[in-house]
Amino acid sequence: MEKSIETLTGDTEGVAYFFSVLRFAGSDPVAPSAYIQAALHAGELPGMVAIDALMPMLRRAEAEGRLRGKITVVPEANPVGRAQFHFGGLQGRFHLGTRTNFNRDFPLLERPDPALAEQHAGTIDQRLKQRLVALSMGHDIVLDLHCDDEGVAYLYVPGALWPAMDDCAAAMGVAAVILWNGSSGASFDEASLHPYLQMPPDEARLERRVATTVEYRGLLDVDRAHAAADAEGLYRLLVARGVIDDPALPLPGPFAGLVAPIENIDVVTASRAGAILFDVTPGDRVARGERLATIVHAAGEDGGSTDVLAPQSGYILTRVSRRSTYAGDDLVKLVGDGPSASARQGALED
Ligand SMILES: [Zn+2]
Repeated sequence: MEKSIETLTGDTEGVAYFFSVLRFAGSDPVAPSAYIQAALHAGELPGMVAIDALMPMLRRAEAEGRLRGKITVVPEANPVGRAQFHFGGLQGRFHLGTRTNFNRDFPLLERPDPALAEQHAGTIDQRLKQRLVALSMGHDIVLDLHCDDEGVAYLYVPGALWPAMDDCAAAMGVAAVILWNGSSGASFDEASLHPYLQMPPDEARLERRVATTVEYRGLLDVDRAHAAADAEGLYRLLVARGVIDDPALPLPGPFAGLVAPIENIDVVTASRAGAILFDVTPGDRVARGERLATIVHAAGEDGGSTDVLAPQSGYILTRVSRRSTYAGDDLVKLVGDGPSASARQGALED
């Protein structure tokens, strides 16, 4: 394994940012290759500690001659966001200078040429995105590790790669897969796949490609047990796709979790400001009209609270981690059994 340091000069004199890239060369140049990054949203750390738990497994595979494909790992992909501590809190989702989500507006390349990604200058967040896309190019498997507020483990998967990625979902042991088509606003996973979708199918070889945003549960699910389990899941995926040899590991069976199009997600919002009393937790199934939460907006008064009901039957994918809310605020992502009447297009804010 080789470590290198990527350097990005800041937008003002005297400022620079650094992040580590860990590379395994692999023994077989035609074996499938993998790129794994975490903490693009700088405060989302379950993936970063999963990588910490995965690295000894990769080193062992390399030492035993079982690491066939090259693997590139960026454990902390966003040194810019990581530095945005203000008033004691981390703002790791949006670049403060441009108000742009760190997981949107990645360059969409016409072909998988790293040089194309870095042709344009721009502010530090744009140059970081160019660098990350350039690093991901040429890998068959691209995993972008995030987390939600509170949630089950789930994947966003481009429709072009489903059902071919069924084995990946099974290997990783996630609870759900959300399929999207069209544009996700140039999120990292979209940008990593986009150039291959411009190629003839026999060159693109989509059947061996993986591009996904991995949502490793919630912000507080940073602990040894989840990190170890997620590292095992990542390792199983790498074995299933031939990046690593491990004949002792059984191949994953068919994915048994929930698969739904993104159009089925109802983002249930609050109608009033107040305190949230949740009735549901991620992973629950609910019926249409069932109470999801109560908002207490005038404590102790008649009519001082308002129930939030399920707009359709379905599955609770996530809920917010805070317990105060305001009118129009997101409360719950409900994967409905049918299309949402108010579905937002593209990937959600993750
Ligand atoms: Zn995220």
